[in-house]
Amino acid sequence: MICPNCEAEYVEGITTCSDCGTTLIPNDQFVKKPDEVISLEDWVVVHSTQDIIEAEMLKSNLSGAGINAFIFSKEDRMRLNLSYVGSAPIKLFVRVENYDDAMQIINQINNEEIKDDEADGKTDE
Ligand SMILES: [Zn+2]
Repeated sequence: MICPNCEAEYVEGITTCSDCGTTLIPNDQFVKKPDEVISLEDWVVVHSTQDIIEAEMLKSNLSGAGINAFIFSKEDRMRLNLSYVGSAPIKLFVRVENYDDAMQIINQINNEEIKDDEADGKTDE
């Protein structure tokens, strides 16, 4: 028997995982997660947006600063069946240890955008 959540193996006769409480399944029914599935425990959301272009822009700014980031789209969420990620359409993740640096970069970019908008005389309302 194996826990589909944490992949711990158990002997016959045990029905739930002692670590996470998930119901065990027989080993031959267990399908290993695809490699592209990242353990979200190590990642935090630094930005949520509706705008994929904005997300891509922030991601490339972060990788320019040496921070590994990935974009989690609505399609990804549906494909992986991850309802807990929430309803905001597009999320930008970085590793936990990069969170502070990433937030600094994103805030800097957002501040520059506000200045640009003011220079153009634009308002959001
Ligand atoms: Zn488990």
